[in-house]
Amino acid sequence: MPVAGIPYFGGVLRNYVAGEFRDSDAHFDNINPVDGSVINRVAEADAQLVDEAVHAAHQALAGEWGALSIADRCALMHKIANGIEARFEEFVAAEMADTGKSAFQARTIDIPRAAANFRAFADLAKNRGSECFHTDTPDGKGALNYSVNKPLGVVAVIAPWNLPLLLLTWKLAPALASGNTVIAKPSEETPSTATLLAEVIHQVGVPAGVFNLVHGFGSHSAGEFLTQHKLVNAITFTGESSTGSAIMRAAAAGVKPLSFELGGKNAAIIFDDCDFDEAVAGTARSVFTNGGQVCLCTERVYVQRTIFDKFVKALKLKAQALKVGWPTDPNTDMGPLISHKHKDKVLSYFSKAISDGAKVICGGGAPQFNDVRDQGAFVEPTIFTGLGEDHPLVREEVFGPVCHIAPFDTEAEVIALANNTNYGLAATVWTTQLQRAHRVAKQMDVGIVWVNAWYLRDLRTPFGGVKLSGIGREGGMHSLNFYAEPMNICIKL
Ligand code: NAD
Repeated sequence: MPVAGIPYFGGVLRNYVAGEFRDSDAHFDNINPVDGSVINRVAEADAQLVDEAVHAAHQALAGEWGALSIADRCALMHKIANGIEARFEEFVAAEMADTGKSAFQARTIDIPRAAANFRAFADLAKNRGSECFHTDTPDGKGALNYSVNKPLGVVAVIAPWNLPLLLLTWKLAPALASGNTVIAKPSEETPSTATLLAEVIHQVGVPAGVFNLVHGFGSHSAGEFLTQHKLVNAITFTGESSTGSAIMRAAAAGVKPLSFELGGKNAAIIFDDCDFDEAVAGTARSVFTNGGQVCLCTERVYVQRTIFDKFVKALKLKAQALKVGWPTDPNTDMGPLISHKHKDKVLSYFSKAISDGAKVICGGGAPQFNDVRDQGAFVEPTIFTGLGEDHPLVREEVFGPVCHIAPFDTEAEVIALANNTNYGLAATVWTTQLQRAHRVAKQMDVGIVWVNAWYLRDLRTPFGGVKLSGIGREGGMHSLNFYAEPMNICIKL
């Protein structure tokens, strides 16, 4: 893979604290999952540096930032969006290097959405209203109640590696638009675009301490130092459900507001009245996009028995047509998984499925390239059938390019099957019957249902999950409501 153009190639990614880029004593390797090579080294923030970042954020609340008008704050956010676009190719190269995702995906989803997040939440915050009630009083003069939205204060933003910049900015943008200050911690697997973003934020003139970036791991590292810090007022987190539990425990002592976007085990329901070609193409996308490493990806496919064999055959053809390879190749559909560790985890699910009698429709292992990519974290697009509903591959989040397909007969049966999971993030329903679409969609125990579509996003809509998939909703006003504290003022007239 060509290295030209990868920001910080061979250098050190630093933290950004109180308006300064800061190195540290401990460094860890940032590994390219395409071939296992070291892209650069990352300065891990220790407890002292995290403490400095939190204090800087706390002080910045009362300074220039706190005195800015909403219009000026939002104008700065538009400048950040413009700054991302001005360095678009650097961001694309950095995201590709860290994750191995295809250039096409980084160019069309990850980086444009990061800029869009800043613009969308800036505009929403600027146009936000507040509540007002005229209240009757016994003396007949009345009272006026109105609310003002105050920032929560210092917000910790903790992000995962699958859509690194997109998911970090999805939280950072509404937090800043609402007047908070932030300490962001990107995943240790994907530190580069967050560091570039710190440069952009520095360059556009956001006051020192308003945005801070700390690099490191979760437990006994920057993540934990941050969530346990007394001056952090709220935590917003995207990642695994088990990490969410750990963060909840850390936040419990301070009774801090939490927003959690966690794992999923999403079902696709394919009725025999669907537009067959669209259902196959849409399901292929929902299973294999980003190597299945999107929280919204489908891992369980339920197909009405009358079209089961035909559907399995058609999805197999789609999976086999996917080009797995160099992220820089414009024809590549799927790069590697994020790391060797994750590849081993995904392959261990495959081995267990196979040894427990699953039928391998396609894939099931790692591809062979006979070049440096064999040292990378590639896994074949994989489809299984024949497992019971209680098998780990059907119950647990695998987070790889894989699905299990099972047949069903009736609507009631498939609703029960789809809901029989500890997760509740998203579901897709494929049908051309209008009434069935509404009837089935509203019975799904999830936060988001797509009918005849997948990953069709409108940033104003509520986004989040039920059960193990999360707490709260973000998106549009839901984000602004989380990142602000409404205070009621009652004036006796
Ligand atoms: P992860 O939970 O391992 O890590 C996420 C972040 O949390 C990282 O920055 C990590 O360093 C940090 N962290 C880990 N332990 C911590 C601790 N004890 N205290 C504080 N911080 C800690 O998740 P991941 O592997 O990076 O991401 C994949 C997971 O994210 C999948 O489960 C996926 O479904 C989920 N996800 C959910 C959504 C959503 O919107 N619901 C979106 C994307 C990803």
